[in-house]
Amino acid sequence: MKITVNDTLLELHSGATVKDALLSYYARSGRKLPGRLPTVEDRFGNIVAPDGALSEGNCLIIRSERKRKTSAARSVIVLLASAILFGCSSTRQTATSHSNEKPDVTAVAPPSGIAASPERQAVIFSVNDMHAAIDNFPKLAWIVDSLRSVYPDLLLVAAGDNQTGNPVNDQFPEKGFPVIDLMNAVGFNLSAVGNHEFDTGPEGFGNLISKADFSFICANVSGGGRHPLKIDPYKIITLPNGLKVAFLGLLQLGQNGIPDSHPDNVRDFVFRSPLRAAPEFLWLKDSSDVFIALTHIGFEEDVKLAETMPPGIDLIIGGHSHTRVDREQVHNGILITQADSKLKFGTLIRLKVDAAGRVSSSMQLIDIRNSKKERPEIRAMVDRYNDNPVLNQVIATATDDFSSSEELGYLMADGQRAAAGADIALMNPGGVRIDRLPKGPVTIKNVYQLDPFGNELVVTKLTGSEIFSLLRAAWSADRKSPLFTSGITTETRVNDHGEPEEITVHTDDGKPLDLNHVYSVAMNSYMTQVYRYEHADPGQSLFLTTAQALIGYLKQEGNIKSYRGEKRVRVTR
Ligand SMILES: [Zn+2]
Repeated sequence: MKITVNDTLLELHSGATVKDALLSYYARSGRKLPGRLPTVEDRFGNIVAPDGALSEGNCLIIRSERKRKTSAARSVIVLLASAILFGCSSTRQTATSHSNEKPDVTAVAPPSGIAASPERQAVIFSVNDMHAAIDNFPKLAWIVDSLRSVYPDLLLVAAGDNQTGNPVNDQFPEKGFPVIDLMNAVGFNLSAVGNHEFDTGPEGFGNLISKADFSFICANVSGGGRHPLKIDPYKIITLPNGLKVAFLGLLQLGQNGIPDSHPDNVRDFVFRSPLRAAPEFLWLKDSSDVFIALTHIGFEEDVKLAETMPPGIDLIIGGHSHTRVDREQVHNGILITQADSKLKFGTLIRLKVDAAGRVSSSMQLIDIRNSKKERPEIRAMVDRYNDNPVLNQVIATATDDFSSSEELGYLMADGQRAAAGADIALMNPGGVRIDRLPKGPVTIKNVYQLDPFGNELVVTKLTGSEIFSLLRAAWSADRKSPLFTSGITTETRVNDHGEPEEITVHTDDGKPLDLNHVYSVAMNSYMTQVYRYEHADPGQSLFLTTAQALIGYLKQEGNIKSYRGEKRVRVTR
């Protein structure tokens, strides 16, 4: 997909993140990515997190020099005081402009059960892209409790991607359950379906939905074959003050027409364009007092939704691009929010509906990460999850010692090739982080020690001659040594300066690599972004980290064969 960084057009593998774009941008200008990543903004001036997902045509701007002030409150005390003094940013009636209303100090919610004051309000706290950051849940719980003491009818919603990003959750025996358990305990009302919700597989996701005390909504997914999921397109929640609040769920699709998850996870489902599905639910505005799109399509797509949808939506609560909306973003009269990722922030949103049914909305970004307080029961739950032996779980047995990073590099390449179903896998030596693994049980922790980076597995279609170009580029980019391989063997003759003079490559059947044949080649996302080599296909992420790929492979193998003395790559002078 095409992404612009500071006016430089880059072609990235589909499924690339903001960090991938930075890697590619710096590699192109011959510089190394700084240890401390620069601050990146989107075209609307919002900060985007390095792990934010990108969509075709996104623009990024690096403005590390510019200091930014965040408007997030330092403490909930400040938060609560200022929550009462909200400004107004958009109204249903004046759809193309928004004006600031006078502060309304009487706006604290009336006690539950008292209906029909001339002006009623709905208060929402939203988070998105939690990515299993369970360690921030105790702080989230404390903030939510504090808000509920002021707004007893507070709605708590997630804009998708609750899953994936923390082995304690992702590798839990009941994959992904810790996050759901914690969301139940904190009292979530609703979640959009994010692309990473599918990472637990159709059966796994179905199981998690059945365990959740809240609903998942998504209007552009259907089907599910043997595993139909209990997902509604929308949900209308009636508040004790009588307000009907409608939420419509929307999910992003990648260039291949499916959400960004491993294709096996979404095989049985039918997906439709979120922007095409949304207008079909416009009638919801007549069945509710407030109509909210709870989306997981990325900020730039949310802007498109606001600009193309016929009038009716009052608010868009978004996710997926990990955008930190810290000032009000109003497009076509519609407020759009998003709160970074991994529970660093949440957004407090207040909607007021006057006697004539006019809706006005306002938002405030709340800093969760720096909260000093926690809810003790939730802390205890998180500690229990962190304490459990997930990472010590034995997934396979090594039948022999591994005594070099080369032997382990071949194992990693074999795992990636199998997980991707590719002809060839290539692994950079710099990505192999241990050089010994004793014979005996192999744990999940061993895999994360071997491969701690969280790079994704990418498959590219490359001709033989493009593979040669890749092998040459990798030589200088990675320690002046050959890539570890699976599916091919290489012999590199180097000159006196240590540069490759001639590379010969054979496939596993002993034939020379065919320059014109197209091979499927698996490698990690770092390699696809950093190596400068000739290739037509930018590749496709499998939305699986290389560590997860290896865990799956080892579980399947059970007994790991001996790699002692294995020699797939040779260097001669
Ligand atoms: Zn996402």
